[in-house]
Amino acid sequence: MKKALIIGGGFAGCSTAHMLALEGGWDVTLVEAGPFLGGGCKTLYWGGHPYTFGPRHFLTRNEAAFAYLDKYCPLRRCADHVFLTYVERDAAFYSYPIHRDDIERMPDRDQIHRELAERPTHIAPTDFEDFWIKSVGRTLYDKYINTYSTKMWQVGNNTEIDTFNWSPKGVTIKDGPREAWDIAISAFPKAANGYDDYFALATASAKVLLNTRVDAYDLPNKSVTLAGERRSFDIIVNTIPPDTVMNYAYGELPFIGRDFLKIVLPVEEVLPSNIYFLYYPNQEIFTRIVEYKKFYRGHKSPTTLLGLEIPSNNGRLYPLPIKRHRDLADRYFADMPDGVFSIGRAGSYRYEVDIDDCLEQSMDIVAKLR
Ligand SMILES: Cc1cc2nc3c(=O)[nH]c(=O)nc-3n(C[C@H](O)[C@H](O)[C@H](O)COP(=O)(O)OP(=O)(O)OC[C@H]3O[C@@H](n4cnc5c(N)ncnc54)[C@H](O)[C@@H]3O)c2cc1C
Repeated sequence: MKKALIIGGGFAGCSTAHMLALEGGWDVTLVEAGPFLGGGCKTLYWGGHPYTFGPRHFLTRNEAAFAYLDKYCPLRRCADHVFLTYVERDAAFYSYPIHRDDIERMPDRDQIHRELAERPTHIAPTDFEDFWIKSVGRTLYDKYINTYSTKMWQVGNNTEIDTFNWSPKGVTIKDGPREAWDIAISAFPKAANGYDDYFALATASAKVLLNTRVDAYDLPNKSVTLAGERRSFDIIVNTIPPDTVMNYAYGELPFIGRDFLKIVLPVEEVLPSNIYFLYYPNQEIFTRIVEYKKFYRGHKSPTTLLGLEIPSNNGRLYPLPIKRHRDLADRYFADMPDGVFSIGRAGSYRYEVDIDDCLEQSMDIVAKLR
């Protein structure tokens, strides 16, 4: 049997364990620092209400990733969901991505139309702020993007963000249907415990070590010290920040974390049925509010749980979309030999890695090993 070590038991770690098991011939050890599998996608409970840390719904244009997950973790489509943003200066909720029809409802629509007509689309943008102003004009940028992004990334000014070809929802201004995911599949597990049964199934044939950390990493030699013993592997799949597993040789990679506020309200449901969560791009300290009953459809209760996400230094959750930090991550990746893979959101050091990308990365590893 060939030996594989997986570091981190979130989506990326569990899906890789599963795909190696489906391939056969692998002896897999998975090391997870926490007391459970699933990382941020684990179902937790508050006042009897199931929730995850943030929405964690499954959005994808990758039909193979959808088919795989649906097979092992039956999914319910939630295509009716409309993303809404509260624009405080207009005292109005609008669709996100910015929708052309909403502009007609705005008090400053004439100014917005002038800015849209004057967009210098032929000049390449230099930074995130410049990208958005050139895409939608200053007024829409200030309403939807400016403060959201500075609080999200904890920067003084969005000109500090110098990568911008990852526009949050792939479009800047939208026409047509308001359902944000009419171009992708949007879904969440049918099971009452969300993705949890999948994490158990995915790792059923692996040696899972919970509450465990590697004592010492030697990834260039595909070895680690685990419970005091030096062990070598044929492959290592890392899903945690690359600086950690490379002994911070080039310094620490910055991340943004989240504080998470849970609020139970004495009503069965508080948001309209097609609104699962809301964005807040103003001076509020939070970026998003999720109503968890919208995802956990089978959950019945006379009360409802809301989760508020507040950007903070709590956790290494969001890799910064800033070039010098990505370059630093790339230095770490360059030192990893064949047979060492670094995947998942933190492991790739890419904000744009979502659940479907974790699956795609696991599929790619297994394909490369064939
Ligand atoms: C608040 C929030 C909301 C999100 N919502 C969505 C969404 O709605 N849809 C979507 O597609 N994506 C969403 N994402 C992104 C998506 O959830 C992630 O891309 C995906 O779940 C990441 O899986 P992962 O395995 O890379 O990381 P994680 O889920 O973070 O798992 C990493 C695991 O590694 C473990 N670990 C950490 N350090 C060590 C160590 N030293 N040794 C061993 N183990 C360690 C952790 O305990 C954790 O279990 C969200 C992300 C955040 C932060």
